[in-house]
Amino acid sequence: MKYCPECATPLQQKEAYSKQRMICSNCGYIDWANPAPVAAAVLLYEKQIVLVKNRREDRNWGLPGGFVEPGENAEEGVLREIFEETGVNGKVTEMLWTYPMLRTKKSFLLIVFEVQRVDGELKAGDEIADVRRVDFQDALKLVEGRLDEHILSKWAQHRGISFKPAGSRVTQTPGTSIRRDQT
Ligand SMILES: [Zn+2]
Repeated sequence: MKYCPECATPLQQKEAYSKQRMICSNCGYIDWANPAPVAAAVLLYEKQIVLVKNRREDRNWGLPGGFVEPGENAEEGVLREIFEETGVNGKVTEMLWTYPMLRTKKSFLLIVFEVQRVDGELKAGDEIADVRRVDFQDALKLVEGRLDEHILSKWAQHRGISFKPAGSRVTQTPGTSIRRDQT
């Protein structure tokens, strides 16, 4: 944020509440740069994992999910995104973990759920190039090297499922799980 949304004075970087923040010298407005919540899911279809290939951004395979919208809780957000992206209705079976993700201009808070498919058949949504369900080991390979690999591995350990690591050292590249860019 460059200008104060209250009085349009250019914001200046200053220390406030023990961090460098963008502050308005005229009215005292502080840009807190709060993270936007993003919900994603380890989506189970019978014993398989559902992955989506994004049409925009990186075009990598990844977990379904996206931004939580105003008025939604994160569970509603993740189920709506799953329906939009994959065509299936799901139910949240567990809230798993959260991750801070920093990008150059914005920050996000990723909230990961375990979701079971209830009904509906897989059909790629408008923003999705492809959707498929695969065995766990294949899912791990498709998301290799990204945060989603870390999440799936952690989920398997959490559920007591044995697996072979995909082989790479996971170098976390924050933001790879986000389905839509927000500008
Ligand atoms: Zn101001």
